Amino acid sequence: MMLKVAVKTDDEAAKKEQKKLRYVQKHRPIFKILEKIKLWPSRSGVLHGIKTIEKDGNYMILETHCHEVIKVRISKNGRAARWLRNKWAERACARCRIPLWKISKYANTLFK
Ligand SMILES: [Zn+2]
Repeated sequence: MMLKVAVKTDDEAAKKEQKKLRYVQKHRPIFKILEKIKLWPSRSGVLHGIKTIEKDGNYMILETHCHEVIKVRISKNGRAARWLRNKWAERACARCRIPLWKISKYANTLFK
């Protein structure tokens, strides 16, 4: 399962992002990574857009643009961190309406 969303597109902003490579340190805390990328890979393989994210002790609470509220334990090697790094997503959430350029940007982000 790899990121299958929006690689070919006529969207100009998305095309621009495809030419740039971005790096994110993979050992950064997951909270910081999510805060920056603003995308959440759900267990079912759907990529959601993050509307708000906050920290609550060892947990983080995030709200997606499709109004789902998710509370997850912060752990460096948690599922979400792994899925983000590996770009495991089947499709983007239609209700979140993630702009193409954002998906392109993420697709071109290397975790190292
Ligand atoms: Zn969504």
